[in-house]
Amino acid sequence: MICPVCFKEEATETVTREFVGGRIEGKVCANCVLHAQSLTANGFYNIFVQQQEKRCRRCGRSLNEIMQTLLVGCPHCYTDFAKQLTPLIDVLQRRDS
Ligand SMILES: [Zn+2]
Ligand SMILES: [Zn+2]
Repeated sequence: MICPVCFKEEATETVTREFVGGRIEGKVCANCVLHAQSLTANGFYNIFVQQQEKRCRRCGRSLNEIMQTLLVGCPHCYTDFAKQLTPLIDVLQRRDS
């Protein structure tokens, strides 16, 4: 799947953070490991839980599903996930060519 921090590279490294309710695990690319480790608890939660659960309001596809499959559900996904998909579009086009 694609790194949820930069949305550019394949997420190959695992980062974990202890929370009151347990441990949250996320995957990032090698470039983003340090960044992910330096995030606040809130920032970590936001990137690895909240952001990935966000869904397109039209087709219901989650950002997590898009990052794993590199397939958007509908054109509206590009609007709802504009911030995340902009760098991802480069990755998608690289795969096509
Ligand atoms: Zn990254
Ligand atoms: Zn959609």
